Amino acid sequence: MRATPTGFAPSSVSTAEMSGAVDPANREPLLLDAMLGKLATYLRVCGYDAAYALDDGVEDDDRLRDLAAAEGRRLVTRDRALAASTPGAVVVTERDVEGQLRELRDAGFDLTPAARPTRCGACNGRLEPVDAGDPRPDYAPDEGDAPVWRCVDCGQCFWTGSHWDDVRATLRRL
Ligand SMILES: [Zn+2]
Repeated sequence: MRATPTGFAPSSVSTAEMSGAVDPANREPLLLDAMLGKLATYLRVCGYDAAYALDDGVEDDDRLRDLAAAEGRRLVTRDRALAASTPGAVVVTERDVEGQLRELRDAGFDLTPAARPTRCGACNGRLEPVDAGDPRPDYAPDEGDAPVWRCVDCGQCFWTGSHWDDVRATLRRL
């Protein structure tokens, strides 16, 4: 995925979300198979540590299984045979991301959008706040206009903006 400017905008954060109802630390780490890149992005907005197989260059079933085990991640896949041979794996059957999100929600996953960005939508890296006075990229809002977070791995910046609102709206619609 290209590091395009991405507005992340929780402009209307509910009280429940602000009070800590969403605690990313309680969410189990996931590994999404090669078919599920878009789903990975949504799960990151929900605060999941959602690794994506193709980000790690992994497509082979045995390597996927090994990677999930080695990193303590729960595998999410569209491949029933792979799921059957991987402990704890979750199968999704839908092709569109909203259908896949509904399947996960019905399987007990908490899909409440995080109150603030914690995971890079592009690479799953951890986000850290950009401090006052720190340089910001041209595509990010000016200091004082919006809080900005930077990915510690790829450097992409995220802030409160329309993309985040769109994703949150989708999650609420499920
Ligand atoms: Zn990143």
